Amino acid sequence: MIIRGMKTLIEGGWVVAHNGTSHEVYERGSLVIEDDRVVHAGGPYAGPVDARISARGKLVSPGFINTHVHTAGGGGDYLLLDMAKDDYRTANYMSFAAPLKGRMAPPPPEATAALRAYVFLHALKNGTTTVIDVGGLRGDWDGYARLVEDLGVRVYASPAFRDRDTYMDAQGRLTYEEDAAVGRQRLQEAVDFVHKYDGTAQGRLRGMLNAAQVETCSEPLLRAGKDAARELGVPIHTHAGGNLVEFQRIMEEYRRTPIQFLADIGFLDERTLLGHAVFTTAHPWPRYPFGDDLRLLAQTGATVGHCPYKYAKMAMTLHSLPRYLAAGVNVALGTDTYPLDMVAELRWASILAKVTDANYQAATPRDVFNAATLGGAKFIDRHDLGRLAPGAKADVLLINLDQLGAPIYADPIKALVDGASGRDVDTVIVDGRVLVQGGRATRVDEDAVYASARQATEHYWYQVPGWRWDGATVDRIIPPAFPLHRAR
Ligand SMILES: [Zn+2]
Repeated sequence: MIIRGMKTLIEGGWVVAHNGTSHEVYERGSLVIEDDRVVHAGGPYAGPVDARISARGKLVSPGFINTHVHTAGGGGDYLLLDMAKDDYRTANYMSFAAPLKGRMAPPPPEATAALRAYVFLHALKNGTTTVIDVGGLRGDWDGYARLVEDLGVRVYASPAFRDRDTYMDAQGRLTYEEDAAVGRQRLQEAVDFVHKYDGTAQGRLRGMLNAAQVETCSEPLLRAGKDAARELGVPIHTHAGGNLVEFQRIMEEYRRTPIQFLADIGFLDERTLLGHAVFTTAHPWPRYPFGDDLRLLAQTGATVGHCPYKYAKMAMTLHSLPRYLAAGVNVALGTDTYPLDMVAELRWASILAKVTDANYQAATPRDVFNAATLGGAKFIDRHDLGRLAPGAKADVLLINLDQLGAPIYADPIKALVDGASGRDVDTVIVDGRVLVQGGRATRVDEDAVYASARQATEHYWYQVPGWRWDGATVDRIIPPAFPLHRAR
């Protein structure tokens, strides 16, 4: 156990150290941390220490930066699983974010708190040490900040804003309804959040802005959002190139692709993260091979938050991770929907790129590990995160590699990418504090957190027929794999 104020040596594992230019790996390496910082990463350490932790058979890795977390629980994610496949107009998030107008009630405060706690803990246990919260349940921001304080996680956040809400009409037709005043008010709420909470929780809660989606924000609101982010000195995210409805709406409204449009209005720079950016001029589905979105992304320095598994479930992927990297685009990884398993995302990112490019040499373990660490750190402009080097934050994962369920390996990074999952994460340290040990949360009763989140989610599912345009139940929207005899 690491105790703050003590100098602790983590020894005997495969240490992923950063040499100033790149990660490198030390067999039977040493990592020394003191308070919230790394003081040594690499080979043997001869100095005096107060405590020692054995990492034999484990990878000692920098914590992953998950650039796509929604702190809303997983109720909507479940609806997204199948529904996206047979109804083009409700593809992707519209399946649960376009209810009949005025019919979806926000969850009670205790459900919101339970779902947020579940999201943070679930992400932590699966290898995320820095959560980029790109929009979740609204309200009780003091409670949100208290949760970040209590759980010990590192978070970038503020409430998402938009001025075009999405609804279904009685025939299930997707409708966008614009209200500029509401958009300005929500942006102000986000700016207030940053003023109030940036730097709280011992510096672990940081501000960023979230323009919800490129097509749900008017051009003036996107411009105002980016201006506010520059003024505050914080990064900004929006979802763009995420689905074909969005791509076509932007084409119709601005006669440009989402990426071209965002570049033209000055939204893209090194402090901008685009969730997904799957549908670009490089992707075959939009059938719009004019211009060069990847070049624009590279020139502006914007980061693409790639969520490979979520997109694979919808039969989509980037075209392709190696092409983005070769064009000079900064790519980071995120999970978006469940499971929030950053270890598994490494494998999905690598394998999907190989299949997409029909090239087994594409998307190496090096590429995807860099995306999960340095890629996210670049967007938040943090040279002390996503790496283990003297002066870096003590955000560390100990991941079990030597076990019968794992391969026999020569290179631990390849073993991680090819064979591991979030359930192999043994220890999670954030800011020098052990938050997960032996695979269990140290600060909270994780079974109670799970039970509360499950209860809140089931409550949400029961309410689905009340706001769905066709009144369908969850089991009708997503038929179970086999006839399922529920107990209730
Ligand atoms: Zn998202």
